[in-house]
Amino acid sequence: MESSSAATVSAGPSPGPTPADLLRRLRARGAADPVTHVERVPARPGVPAPWPSWAPPELRTAFARRGVAAPWQHQAQAATLAYEGEHVVVATGTASGKSLAYQLPALATLLADPRATVLYLAPTKALAADQLRAVAALELEGVRPACYDGDTPRAEREWIRRHSRFVLTNPDMLHHGVLPGHAQWSGFLRRLAYVVIDECHTYRGVFGSHVAHVLRRLRRQCARFGSTPVFVLASATSGDPSTAAGRLTGLPVTAVTEDASPRGGVTFALWEPPLLPPDSGPSTPVPPQSSSDRSSPPAPPQSSGDRSSPPAPPQASGDHDDLQQVRRSALRETADLLADTVAEGVRTLAFVRSRKGAEVVAANARRALDDAVPGLGDRVAAYRGGYLREERRELERALLHGDLLGLASTNALELGVDLVGLDAVLICGYPGTRASLWQQAGRAGRSGQEALAVLVARDDPLDTYLVHHPEAIFGAPVEATVLDPANPYVLAPQLACAAFEAPLTPADLALFGDGAKEAVDQLVAAGALRQRPTGWYWRHRERPEVDLRGEGGAPVCVVESSTGRLLGTVDGGSSHFLLHSGAVYLHQGVSYVVDDLDLVDGCALVHAEEPDWSTHARDVTDLSVVSVRSYVDAGPVGMFLGEVDVTSQVVSYQRRRIATGEVIDTRPLDLPARELRTVAVWFTLSPQSLTLAGVQPADVPGALHAAEHAAIGLLPLMATCDRWDIGGLSTAVHQDTEAPTVFVYDGHPGGAGFAERAYGTAAAWLRATRDAIAECGCESGCPSCVQSPKCGNGNNPLSKPDAIRVLDVVLANLPE
Ligand SMILES: [Zn+2]
Ligand SMILES: [Zn+2]
Repeated sequence: MESSSAATVSAGPSPGPTPADLLRRLRARGAADPVTHVERVPARPGVPAPWPSWAPPELRTAFARRGVAAPWQHQAQAATLAYEGEHVVVATGTASGKSLAYQLPALATLLADPRATVLYLAPTKALAADQLRAVAALELEGVRPACYDGDTPRAEREWIRRHSRFVLTNPDMLHHGVLPGHAQWSGFLRRLAYVVIDECHTYRGVFGSHVAHVLRRLRRQCARFGSTPVFVLASATSGDPSTAAGRLTGLPVTAVTEDASPRGGVTFALWEPPLLPPDSGPSTPVPPQSSSDRSSPPAPPQSSGDRSSPPAPPQASGDHDDLQQVRRSALRETADLLADTVAEGVRTLAFVRSRKGAEVVAANARRALDDAVPGLGDRVAAYRGGYLREERRELERALLHGDLLGLASTNALELGVDLVGLDAVLICGYPGTRASLWQQAGRAGRSGQEALAVLVARDDPLDTYLVHHPEAIFGAPVEATVLDPANPYVLAPQLACAAFEAPLTPADLALFGDGAKEAVDQLVAAGALRQRPTGWYWRHRERPEVDLRGEGGAPVCVVESSTGRLLGTVDGGSSHFLLHSGAVYLHQGVSYVVDDLDLVDGCALVHAEEPDWSTHARDVTDLSVVSVRSYVDAGPVGMFLGEVDVTSQVVSYQRRRIATGEVIDTRPLDLPARELRTVAVWFTLSPQSLTLAGVQPADVPGALHAAEHAAIGLLPLMATCDRWDIGGLSTAVHQDTEAPTVFVYDGHPGGAGFAERAYGTAAAWLRATRDAIAECGCESGCPSCVQSPKCGNGNNPLSKPDAIRVLDVVLANLPE
């Protein structure tokens, strides 16, 4: 299929080039070679296994009809464990056929026991829909698979509850719909044999902790109805999947991690965009770091929204607004690479960290292709959440059929499972973890053919470090998924939900784990639960309102004024950045300009216009202390826990020439500030103690900033949270503390328990932080110590040696 597409696109009659040839042509474009390293990930032969003896012939035939001749070894192994009643997680690479590992035992059981049922959970509706198609295509008698989610028409819901034996849904629907309505589901739950949790690595941080309790609530209802389903989980490759799956389900889970599926070799290139000529490009001066406006690195706005939405819009372009550009931007480089690969007839997916970035890459690639061959630009599109469902399906279909050759996208998960036969993957900027990097690279070479993956470094120290230290990518294990079901801020609302569904008994407390008793006592004290001899009862008529995915705000609709056509939606958290008046908004590569953002109606009116500039919103972030809950006075050092207000306000936007990046002007905006009231831990040091320790006044911002980054990076050691759930801010003098201060705060309204744990283990936490920095072999700071993938300031300023001095002062004074 690749060659036929290629024949219609590329000038020559030859089929698509090999990855090595392709890479050679790509890197030969410029004067300097941008490739810093090429890693050859060898092809792996598959290890097939016979069908397990328990798999009925009917099922084997059905799979054979769909092209599955025999399972791979990891599939057979996981399936057999699950069939024998063990909870199992299969954690293998992208496209390794994880679905067969759960379909096989689940469907075999449905065929053997005409009453048994299966519940399948996916993190997105799109993925559930894909799975539904796959299961339905097996055409098994009496299974009647069905999706049950927010889109399911009311009229069909009762039929599904009564008759479907393979229900596909998501944790939100389980939480909001199935569990509160358990009486209607009693028949289904009583006969529940398997719970399948697909893409379980996505349940991390606060969201993951919520889902962990939703699953405990499910187990409690099943127990009430007399069933004890087996849990089968599928995960991307991750560190210690057995522990993560165990935390998620509250059950002992066996991990199958040996990937026995075949895969084609991948040529993985690390690509550093070339240096710009000295006098070209914008020459924005580096801002003073000690002045009052920027003395504090702005708290990364993504701290609160990055779990479910793309990274911080201010960095949406991938460029650093405040830093002098020395290299060509990764977005432009990626757009050129995308255009070049598409021109070669190579089916290519480009991952870009932000939605806006994906739109820009697609638009630039289209322009470049149209300049070469008018009409060729139509073979490139952008893909992101927020498109209407029909548009998403159409894009998937077009890529599958080769009408589309290039796609720029924000994240792997939204793509579902229908993308096959990609020849090249371009990764624009390090995605933050090795786990996501491998997941994105794993999209290439699906059908076992050779493929190319390219990591294009952004112009920042972290990416730069990585492309020059390939061992940090290719020689290190992937990260573990972290979640903390004992987080009191998650546990209490989840116990309220459980009590609404059925009174809590002392036995339930063990199910919900550490801290459950304290949380129940708290709910009683707050008047939410009433204690009776038989247990704890929910006191209100209405259900407790608990949102698994936290804040983010209602989505804002983007509407074309002249036609009233709904173009798409943007989540509330990003709307100020992307849809302010005057913003250039790209949709499907078509450019619109926003006339008006109506925050009351949640609607932005736009008109089609293609100016030759792009817009970049700027925000100001501030943090003020609301109250101090607890503190330690340690001489020149203070350690505090308290409530803070983190305020961020989009105050202006820059217009920049698309061709050159030149700043045309900066225009003020009048948007309301948005506040996050949350919990923070912070420490202060006296200026004298810093001077005594040898930190020069000019180096204080870099010292504090570096210490803040490393402290955030190390907090997961103490709090089993995720660094993406936390925000930070450091400043040489803060208006409330009147001293050099480092703040670390929960990125969730009301806090999430992380800062509190950090405070409780402050000495151990900062000791580990200090050691991690000091023991790092790098000279002046690297991603393993003081650089952060989520820095709102482009990792500037940072001073590694001074960060050690700062932490030494804190540790010398703080009691253990
Ligand atoms: Zn380092
Ligand atoms: Zn930073």
